[in-house]
Amino acid sequence: MTTPEAARPSHFIREMITRDIETNKYGRRVHTRFPPEPNGYLHIGHAKSICLNFGLAEEFGGKCNLRFDDTNPEKEEQEYVDSIIDSVRWLGFDFGAAPLYASDYFGFMYQAAEYLISAGHAYVDSQTADEMRENRGTLTAPGKDSPYRGRSVDENLRLFREMRDGRHPDGAMVLRAKIDMASGNINMRDPAVYRIKRAEHHRTGNTWCIYPMYTYAHPIEDAIEKITHSVCTLEFEDQRPFYDWLLERLAEGGLLERPLPQQIEFARLNMSHTVLSKRKLITLVGQGHVRGWDDPRMPTIAGFRRRGYTPAAIRNFCERIGLAKRDSVVEMALLEFCIREDLNLRAPRKMAVLRPLRVVIENYPEGQTEELNAVNNPEDPGMGSRKVPFSRVIYIEQDDFREDPPKQFFRLAPGREVRLRYAYFITCTRVVKNDRQEVVELRCTYDPATRGGDSPDGRKVKATLHWVSADHAAGAEVRLYDHLFRTPEPGAGTGNFLEDLNPGSLETLGQCYVEPSLRDGMPGSTFQFERLGYFCVDADSSTGRPVFNRTVTLKDTWAKIEKGKKG
Ligand code: ATP
Ligand code: MG
Repeated sequence: MTTPEAARPSHFIREMITRDIETNKYGRRVHTRFPPEPNGYLHIGHAKSICLNFGLAEEFGGKCNLRFDDTNPEKEEQEYVDSIIDSVRWLGFDFGAAPLYASDYFGFMYQAAEYLISAGHAYVDSQTADEMRENRGTLTAPGKDSPYRGRSVDENLRLFREMRDGRHPDGAMVLRAKIDMASGNINMRDPAVYRIKRAEHHRTGNTWCIYPMYTYAHPIEDAIEKITHSVCTLEFEDQRPFYDWLLERLAEGGLLERPLPQQIEFARLNMSHTVLSKRKLITLVGQGHVRGWDDPRMPTIAGFRRRGYTPAAIRNFCERIGLAKRDSVVEMALLEFCIREDLNLRAPRKMAVLRPLRVVIENYPEGQTEELNAVNNPEDPGMGSRKVPFSRVIYIEQDDFREDPPKQFFRLAPGREVRLRYAYFITCTRVVKNDRQEVVELRCTYDPATRGGDSPDGRKVKATLHWVSADHAAGAEVRLYDHLFRTPEPGAGTGNFLEDLNPGSLETLGQCYVEPSLRDGMPGSTFQFERLGYFCVDADSSTGRPVFNRTVTLKDTWAKIEKGKKG
C-alpha cells in the first residue's frame, strides 16, 4: 500500500532513528505514539502525524501507541474518542487491542508533583492570573520571582493537598515548577504544572478537581509508555527544554527509568483552500456551515472518507509531501492527484448522466432492448466487462449538444454524427423545443452497422458520448463539491476565514440518471462515471434511490501546476 522502500525519500527523523539504533540508545527499540486530544475529529494534518508515527514503527519493527491526551476535562467527549479510533483504523494502522488514555496516569502525575515539591522543584503560587502574567516578563525582559516562591516544602505540600481535596476555589492557586524566572526561554520561567478546575472528566468523572497542564502531562505520558521518539509539531520546539528538565528531575528521583524519551519536532501540514485548526473546524460544524464533521467538504478524515477518498490515497499523499523543519502550504491539488491515481486503477467505470437531455432514436424499434458489452476498467482487464441495456430512448448530457456549435465543439449538433460509447453512431435529425425555446429533446437516427462503436466503412466521428437508457436507468441524486473556501489561504485577506467560504462549494443535482447496475450500490463504493469524474455512494442513499458524492473530477489540476512550475 505504501511507496516501496527504494522510492521513499528519506528524512531527518528516519535518519535520527537509524543513528539511535546504531548507537544502541534505546536498546534498539523504536516506540512512537500518536497523541490526539479528543476535542474534535481528526483532519488531514493528523493523518500526516499518524502516517509518520505508525509508519516509522512499522518500518523499524517497533510499536506505535494511540494515546488520548485527555488531560483537559472541559472540551473532551466520547464521540471524539470513537471517531478518532475509527479514523486511525480506517487508515489501516494497528495500535493493538485498545487505545491508551493519559487520564489513566493521573495518579502517577499527582505523585510526581508531590515528589517535585519535596525535592524543592515545585511550589504553590497564590498570585492572581494577572499578577503571574505581569511577572512573567517578556522575550527581552526577565521575569520576577513570585512572592510565594520561597514557601517551605511543608507548606507547599499542605497547600497542594488542599488543592486536590477541593479546599480552594478554581484559579485561587497553581502548582509551578521552580526553574528560573530569568531564563531566556519563557517556557522555563516556572511553568504551571497543576491547576484547580472543577469539571467532570469524560473518564475519571469527578475524582479530580485539579488537572495537570499539557506541558507537564505529555512528557510523563511518553516516559510511562517508554516512548523512544516523541514526534510533535514545531510549535513545541520551545517546550523541549522543559520536557527534558521534567523527565530528568523525575529520573533523578527514581520515579522514571532511563533512557528517557526524546522530543523531535517537524513542520505541521498546512493545506490550500481549507483550514486545519480544530477551533475553526468546530466553528464550521457548530455554526452549520457544513452538515457535520463528516461533510465531504471537510478536511477531516471522516469527511474525505465519505467523499470517496481511500486510505491508500491518503497514505500515499502523506508519504509524498515528505517531512520538513519549516512550515509550508501543500496544494489541495496534490491530494486530488493522489486519489485520482488510486481510483484510476481500482474504480469500475460506469455511465451516468448528470444533466439529462432526452434523445429519441427514431429508426430504433419500439420496445426493443439490447444488452451491450461495456469494459469495467481499461486499466485492469481482470475487472472484466458488464452488460449495459440500450433502447430507443436514451439520455445524454445537455452539455454534449449544441444547436449552434462553436468551432472547437465536436460533440452532437444538428446534422452531425457521433458515437455512443459501446453502442452505435447516431445522427441528430431534429431539435424539439418547449414554449420558452429551450431544447427539451433530440430526434436522432442510428446506424445498425456500427454496433459496438465502429463503422464497417471506416468513417470517423470526432466525439464519443456517454449515455443511459431511459427505461432502464435509475434516478439518482448527485452532489458536486468544490473547495470549501474560495481563497487558497482562508481569512488571509479578510481577517475572518468565514468570509472566504465558497458559496458554491456544494451543488446538488436531483434529476440524474445512472446505469441500472448502480441502483443499489453499497455506501462507500467508488466508481468512475465516464467522462465526468470519480463518484462514491453516499450513506444518504435509500433503496432504489442512490445518492452519489463526486470525489474528484477527471481534470488534473495538479499536472498543470507541475507543468507550470517546470516551464
Ligand atoms: P489543538 O492542540 O489545537 O487541539 P492539534 O491539531 O494540535 O489541535 P492534537 O489532538 O493535539 O490536535 O494533535 C494530535 C497530534 O497530531 C499532535 O502530535 C499534533 O502535533 C499532530 N498534528 C496536529 N495538527 C497537525 C498538522 N496540521 N500536521 C501535522 N501534525 C499535526
Ligand atoms: Mg495539540
